[in-house]
Amino acid sequence: MIETKIKSTVRDVIDFPKPGIVFKDITPILKDPALCINITRELAEQLKGIEIDVVAGIESRGFLFGPALAQLLNVPFVPIRKVGKLPYKTVQQSYDLEYGKATIEVHEDALLKGQKVLIHDDLLATGGTVVAASKLIMQLGAEVTGYSFIIALDFLKGRLRLEPYTKQIFSLASY
Ligand code: IMP
Repeated sequence: MIETKIKSTVRDVIDFPKPGIVFKDITPILKDPALCINITRELAEQLKGIEIDVVAGIESRGFLFGPALAQLLNVPFVPIRKVGKLPYKTVQQSYDLEYGKATIEVHEDALLKGQKVLIHDDLLATGGTVVAASKLIMQLGAEVTGYSFIIALDFLKGRLRLEPYTKQIFSLASY
């Protein structure tokens, strides 16, 4: 089962990036090409029946599987980046993180009005990052139709913060 395989591959790093945090390090997954292909396929499988015109991935670990997922779904990929990285005109959102504050942005012409967007990131923690990403997408007149994560830290209750946008929230492994 993919959840067992993901959990046995991901590495827990204690006290990163701050004391008291147990960080789920997904980099060991990237050393296993068969698992990477399976993850991409399973993410796509979960999304059957969801209307998706675009996959938006969040910097930086949302860029590891987001483009492959978009290619498998045969839709465009849009990068949502930390402030100051995108070259063209952008719209921005600031938010609180599990550890600190951050601003993310997207190119102002990245989406067309009314497009249905799947937001992908590696991991759902408090939900702050994807809530900010959802607001960016709505600022451009597009609609969030789903969320897709490899890992969800359910004990942090991030899902509750996403449900006002859409209840289509998927992950492959939860803690
Ligand atoms: P949230 O905004 O609190 O949901 O945090 C999610 C964001 O922080 C995602 O972009 C994750 O990549 C990152 N993140 C938070 N905790 C972890 C972790 O334990 N492992 C990997 N990424 C994490």
